[in-house]
Amino acid sequence: MGRLRQKSCTLCQQSESVLYRIQYDQSNQWIFVCRCCWEQVSQNNPYYVYGGTWKAKK
Ligand SMILES: [Zn+2]
Repeated sequence: MGRLRQKSCTLCQQSESVLYRIQYDQSNQWIFVCRCCWEQVSQNNPYYVYGGTWKAKK
């Protein structure tokens, strides 16, 4: 059994087992967001870039 890794959403601070790695503004900084925030920031966003999915369990 591997140990369970924990990461939390940069925007809402919610701890999730699956997070989406994205850029969402001009700073070109990668952040991790939950599915809920991802749907919000990716809509009508010219700066939005998707960089992969992070999972606590492989
Ligand atoms: Zn969130």
